Amino acid sequence: IVVLAGSALLLHRLEYIDHEMVTDSIRQFGYKNAEDKIKMPAGVRNTQDGLKIEYVEVADRQGTPQEIAHINFQRWKNVQQKKIHEPKDFNIEKIRPPADPATYDRELASIVSLVRNREMHALESSMREFEEKFNSKFLYPYTFLNEQPFSQKFKEKMRSLTKAEVNFVHIPNEVWRKPFDIDTLKEKEGIQSLLDDGVGYSDMESYHNMCRFYSGAFYKLPELQKYRYYMRMEPDVKFFTDINYDIFKYLSGTGKVYGFTVALYDSPQSVRTLFPETIKFLNEGNNSEYLHPRGAFQFTTESRQHPEIHKITGGYSTCHFWSNFEIADMDFFRGEAYSKYFEYLDSTGKFYYERWGDAPVHSLGLSLFADKLKIHWFQDIGYFHFPYYNCPNNEQTKGCNNGQFDEFNDLANQNCMGTWLHFETGVKDVY
Ligand code: GDP
Ligand code: MN
Repeated sequence: IVVLAGSALLLHRLEYIDHEMVTDSIRQFGYKNAEDKIKMPAGVRNTQDGLKIEYVEVADRQGTPQEIAHINFQRWKNVQQKKIHEPKDFNIEKIRPPADPATYDRELASIVSLVRNREMHALESSMREFEEKFNSKFLYPYTFLNEQPFSQKFKEKMRSLTKAEVNFVHIPNEVWRKPFDIDTLKEKEGIQSLLDDGVGYSDMESYHNMCRFYSGAFYKLPELQKYRYYMRMEPDVKFFTDINYDIFKYLSGTGKVYGFTVALYDSPQSVRTLFPETIKFLNEGNNSEYLHPRGAFQFTTESRQHPEIHKITGGYSTCHFWSNFEIADMDFFRGEAYSKYFEYLDSTGKFYYERWGDAPVHSLGLSLFADKLKIHWFQDIGYFHFPYYNCPNNEQTKGCNNGQFDEFNDLANQNCMGTWLHFETGVKDVY
């Protein structure tokens, strides 16, 4: 837990975390005496006497990384193979498709897609599936975002695919582009080092822009202010499940802030200092007060499946929610904790000196500042973005292999779902 906040006492209990390494990584960031600088998080402080901090001991997870990966995969697979239906923690009958979608009283929500003209056909494919499986029944509006003007052809194509409202938004240069204060020499060195490490897209400035935009900018666009919820959609994804309830109203009805389908490891070289910078942020002023006492800390710091990752990331597991599918309450991102966190991260310039993805940034923000019980695994929604799947075992799902995590069936050790399910979902059985 408190790798983030560093209580020696708690670290002692979480023996599997390498205390020395974490404090070392904090020292590297200029703190002479790491122990002195680290604070207890809010919530944890209050319960210090009884140490009533929510986490599960990991004593049952002895073994080599391969064995741990196997145990974790089986944990996920056992859950994944169970026959499931719709969520049970909300009255789904209340949020069934309306008789007339045109006059439906929708949640304040939009499907959001950042996309390029040349991805028209790939996005068409995603949209056709999503319309068929969900949106033709509810008609949630689409918002397409681009830093380039959308072509007439693109606009007409998108309009032709849905009866829902469709909006095209131009992202202003000052929002999209690399900030002027990025040190180009440092950037060049950073990119070379990323290339040496084989980090994908690292020499594409546009990809860095995209990651920064999705991390901390899209929800501030004036055109999205009227919405509270959004669902992200990407080109070339598949939806395998016929969805017969309003997923946005499910989120608002349960008060959940975030929904995902896949959780996995990231390239540690792309986020070398994201976690140490995060710790630095938490140690500034009263920022540690933003920590949620029921954060998903175990998910964030798990080290046994890939011990080598910790050595590169200074204590971050790299476990993250795969953000190409995400349904979220933008008020979480707009809130003080996440806003200040993003501003801090942005001030380091490392969206360009490194290749921080929006997925680890969102996931760390959520794991630290949100109640983990408000983060929802949409186990029932079949989804594919190359090369990973979420493939539920229910009658509404067709076209994928239940129990399989990826297209090639050989990326099992990239799966973080076992850790998520075991440590972060609480006692409540959602399905
Ligand atoms: P990957 O999933 O990490 O391989 O990255 P993608 O290439 O799928 O990019 C993520 C999302 O951002 C997709 O929806 C892309 O269409 C979009 N995207 C990426 N780069 C750009 C860009 O330079 N401009 C625009 N408008 N969209 C982009
Ligand atoms: Mn993609």
